[in-house]
Amino acid sequence: MSSPAKKRKRDTQPTRSIASFFQGQAAKKAEQTEQSSPPEDGEQHFSDEALARKLQAEWNNEQEPATPEPPATVPPTAASPSPEQDRERKKAKAGVLSLQSSTGAEDTISLTVPLDENPLVFNSFRYAQELKAHWSAEGGDASYALLTRAFVLASSTTSRIAIVGILVNVLRVIIEGDPTSVLPAVWLATNSISPPYHELELGLGGSVISKAFKKIYGLNSQGLKSLYDRLGDAGDVAFEAKKRQSFTLVKPKPLSIKGVYQSLTKIAMSKGNGSQNMKESIVNKLLQDARGPEEARYVVRTLVQNLRIGAVKTTMLIALARALLLSKPEGASFNVHSQHDLARLKKEELTEVYNNAEELVKASYARHPNYNDLVPCLLEIGVSEELLVRCGLQIHTPLMPMLGSITRDLSEMLTKLQGRDFTCEYKYDGQRAQVHCDETGKVSIFSRHLEQMTEKYPDLVSLVPQIREGVSSFILEGEVVAVDQNGEHQPFQTLTNRAKKNVEIGAISINVCLFAFDLMYLNGTPLLDRSLRERRELLRSLFVQIPNRFTWVKSLDATSADSETVLDFFKSATDSKCEGIMVKVLDNAPVKSATASSNSTNTPNTPNTPAEVKEVKKGGRRKELLSSYSPDQRRESWLKVKKDYSASSETLDLIPVAGWHGNGRKAKWWSPILLAVRNPETGGLEAVTKCMSGFSDKFYQANKDKYEQGSPNVISRPSYVEYNGEPDVWFNPQEVWEIAFADITLSPTYIAAIGLVSDERGLSLRFPRFLKVREDKSIDEASTADYLALLYRKQSERARIEETANADQVVELAE
Ligand code: ATP
Repeated sequence: MSSPAKKRKRDTQPTRSIASFFQGQAAKKAEQTEQSSPPEDGEQHFSDEALARKLQAEWNNEQEPATPEPPATVPPTAASPSPEQDRERKKAKAGVLSLQSSTGAEDTISLTVPLDENPLVFNSFRYAQELKAHWSAEGGDASYALLTRAFVLASSTTSRIAIVGILVNVLRVIIEGDPTSVLPAVWLATNSISPPYHELELGLGGSVISKAFKKIYGLNSQGLKSLYDRLGDAGDVAFEAKKRQSFTLVKPKPLSIKGVYQSLTKIAMSKGNGSQNMKESIVNKLLQDARGPEEARYVVRTLVQNLRIGAVKTTMLIALARALLLSKPEGASFNVHSQHDLARLKKEELTEVYNNAEELVKASYARHPNYNDLVPCLLEIGVSEELLVRCGLQIHTPLMPMLGSITRDLSEMLTKLQGRDFTCEYKYDGQRAQVHCDETGKVSIFSRHLEQMTEKYPDLVSLVPQIREGVSSFILEGEVVAVDQNGEHQPFQTLTNRAKKNVEIGAISINVCLFAFDLMYLNGTPLLDRSLRERRELLRSLFVQIPNRFTWVKSLDATSADSETVLDFFKSATDSKCEGIMVKVLDNAPVKSATASSNSTNTPNTPNTPAEVKEVKKGGRRKELLSSYSPDQRRESWLKVKKDYSASSETLDLIPVAGWHGNGRKAKWWSPILLAVRNPETGGLEAVTKCMSGFSDKFYQANKDKYEQGSPNVISRPSYVEYNGEPDVWFNPQEVWEIAFADITLSPTYIAAIGLVSDERGLSLRFPRFLKVREDKSIDEASTADYLALLYRKQSERARIEETANADQVVELAE
């Protein structure tokens, strides 16, 4: 649900209007219209609240003039019902209409749990017991109110340590109080409902939420628009609307973590006739049952898939590891640490205990990225090495791909890999594919982002029986490239024209070739720990090539002494329409020393598990330069050397408009950053590329400080920025950066300059690199969409001239 492709498909978020950007906000005035305007169709439609008030008035007048105002609902407790609850129950039994105060219904018990306390001080046992008693009055399941409390606290801080602490505490309470709610809590906190390769999508249009706002919170269209314009976030609109709602007709049924998660899966699974009504009624019910404005806010943010609590994948994995070091479900047999003992450890010792646990959980997730399997396993056996066996590599479950590190140029690469045997491979411009095949011959193909692509490539599926001859089961990886009848590579864009699903093999017009580069699993045995040399040997000796359909990546084995040959190979790669080369370390040990080189090809197992990696780190020199396949790791043992950035001497002056939370080392900064060109005709800004190169750490920090969440430089989604994705933060556009790039491409994603070069596609930049801030330019002087289109045309013209010159040369040589 949260993978990029799924995200792209989502409805765009409510937006902040361009008027508010250029002319300042007219919000105050609009606010007055939010609730006072009559229904737009002039009919007497009563919202839940309006109807409740009307009936209350009639009831007061006609039936019981002396009845006092209904008091606020008190939170139910495990103990005996309050007199108020008793009265309500009696009324309900007698079929008498009852009104509920909406604001007073919050779950005050969950609100008092100090989830932001230091996890080594937090008394999870006490709170789990208290809450269990409280939950038992509501059916026994952990309440959504508790999770909401964690969300509220997490979104009030940008400190990753604090967010991890809050998640650890809430997970511990749930593990001890209601372990069956841990899994749904993990899905909800990571703002997803299934792994990317399960095609379960919420698929909720914005109109369903808007309808629910009207129906449940009594807003009219004008009021709703006004709130959206002012707040820009559907969750914040829900918060505001719920805050203003004082009565509900139906007594809310407290939301449980499980209940909310099940509602989401029901929405995702409802298909066909009547599914729209079904989705609407589930959404209505969720909004109706949300107790208090914060629950409403987070239910809605969950529905629009924009939770914004900073619980990215790594944060959740760390929190799970730490929580299960300290807590276990009742009856589980694994050992946990005493909180007291951990609290007494020295800082480095504690870090080591945490790191070991975290590495195991992360390693398991990287091999088997599915909480549906990981969480039950953790609850059963705790954090142990066995996780990697019980929840490790498995056919038809995609592992997270190994990633390459960027290098500036060939000379930097040669310096980094001095003393090592490496292989240079063409870096094809296609789509990464992970191909799984089991003993029965069933095939699955997954994308770089773990999405199912089996139905997109039936032609690749049909090749498998021919390529695997003596092999029973395997997982291999390669790059799918579009090719013409002669095997000539076609640009990446050609691949994007292929449908994503239900491709009929007979109707395929664009052929593809899979250039295989790795083998991760063979005949029931994971190969991740083997050296690349060994994996490659197995791949090339056991599988069968089919010309122009399935073949090995073009490669050259070399060392740093072979700079000339490597340079020639790099040139041949770029001449063959490749993006550059991938350079991969072949063996684990440096080849220089005699012992090392003799070890290099013979070592069957290279460090890959956390314990082994630690060993290697102690060995100093070999740190990070492992030739094993490390899922989800960006290692220096895989280096990307791309076409020279300076290939285009032109630069563009772009406006930074949004950012994402960085990964790994860059987690504390915004990276990548979304950049836009100006469209002087519409006054809008058109996103053109994401940039994460050329920034110094100092610059990243200054940028983070400048665009700090909560500061006026961070705004809600602006409608004047044309972009379909979901950045983590939107910048108030105010500066211009000079950006270098390799070339300009037609893009299926970005819509900058759409209509100027192509009617269907916009333009984007390849390999954008930050050069400097243009202090001398205001955003009105940033590059325009027209200028971008002009550069694209110049580039095409240059390519045409070069092609003619090359063709002439060939003719000359032939003569
Ligand atoms: P990354 O995938 O590293 O996060 P990215 O999405 O920006 O970065 P690139 O920088 O273009 O992608 O480089 C990595 C991609 O190159 C791989 O994901 C893969 O699709 C592609 N690729 C092409 N040829 C090879 C090869 N021989 N070995 C590995 N990857 C290759």
